Amino acid sequence: METMLLDSSESDLATAAALIRQGHLVGIPTETVYGLGADAGNERAVRSIFEAKGRPSDNPLIVHLADFSQATNYTTSIPKLAYTLAEHFCPGPLTMVLPKNERIPMATSGGLDTVGIRVPSHPVMHRIIELAGCPIAAPSANTSGYPSPTSAQHVMADMNGRIAAIVDGGVSKFGVESTVISFDDENSVRILRPGCVTRDMLLEYCQCVTIDPAILKGLADGEKAASPGMKYKHYSPKADVVMIEGTASQVRRFAEENASDTTYFVIYSGDEENFPGKYITYGADSLQQAHSLFAILRDLDSLGADKVYVRAPAHDGVGLAVYNRLIRAAGFEVITL
Ligand code: AMP
Ligand code: MG
Repeated sequence: METMLLDSSESDLATAAALIRQGHLVGIPTETVYGLGADAGNERAVRSIFEAKGRPSDNPLIVHLADFSQATNYTTSIPKLAYTLAEHFCPGPLTMVLPKNERIPMATSGGLDTVGIRVPSHPVMHRIIELAGCPIAAPSANTSGYPSPTSAQHVMADMNGRIAAIVDGGVSKFGVESTVISFDDENSVRILRPGCVTRDMLLEYCQCVTIDPAILKGLADGEKAASPGMKYKHYSPKADVVMIEGTASQVRRFAEENASDTTYFVIYSGDEENFPGKYITYGADSLQQAHSLFAILRDLDSLGADKVYVRAPAHDGVGLAVYNRLIRAAGFEVITL
């Protein structure tokens, strides 16, 4: 199959929407990362998403809607708190896990009786959902296990020949996937996957916001994941990634002792002067680091890196999302200096 590269003109978006209606897969820009979109109600199309990505079939897909009011069509009940959160965070990078109805096939929900609902804010994604007139299931458009794509070129690198089309809508604004939450009770939510809607932002409207323990550590053998995607090694380039916890000067000393031709250090912007090893900077704050992390992990493969040490991001705010992706890219290998 030849993969078409489309742009964000109205006629190309109509083409993308028509392909989705016909059961094909299309790479679509969103404000988080690029998604691999298909009609969420078309079981055959949804199965082909799992096939194209090599994704385990028990890893549920998020369903994207043009407006949160449409969520009643695909769920059996919606807590009042969900409407409050939708008012403040939809459209945007927030996914709410709700009890699903029969219009969402089990293939879409990975066998769960719940479905993650999101209303993306990217105008291209939004317009494609409107034109398609169906809910769009869209996981990140990468090969499963590899870093998520934040540009149309990343999607092309992973999916060329395997999907009908890719819509180029520029580089993704946030660079990490949406915050996924579930509802513990009428006033409380649980963060299953951290993203750019942070715990502090949610606390403005919720009495209690619990951070699921699986976000920061791996699951013990046999432990059940509240968020199935969190149990897989994920986001990894070919190089061996290790996270290092320490100050700028500790990282510099560590680099003096561990530099080699194929070893790269990913450090904070501002820390690069006279750095004693090969390095890439990934931003000075968590928002910048979220924006550039996945692209850098991909670049490291092109550079031929075989070992990559990344200075750990902050653990709070958007930093928690960056930390969560990195610790998985590192297969939970952390060196504390
Ligand atoms: P991706 O599609 O690659 O952004 O991954 C979506 C992730 O959202 C999954 O791997 C899960 O961790 C989470 N997720 C989606 N739907 C649900 C659900 N119904 N229950 C719990 N977690 C979900
Ligand atoms: Mg993904």
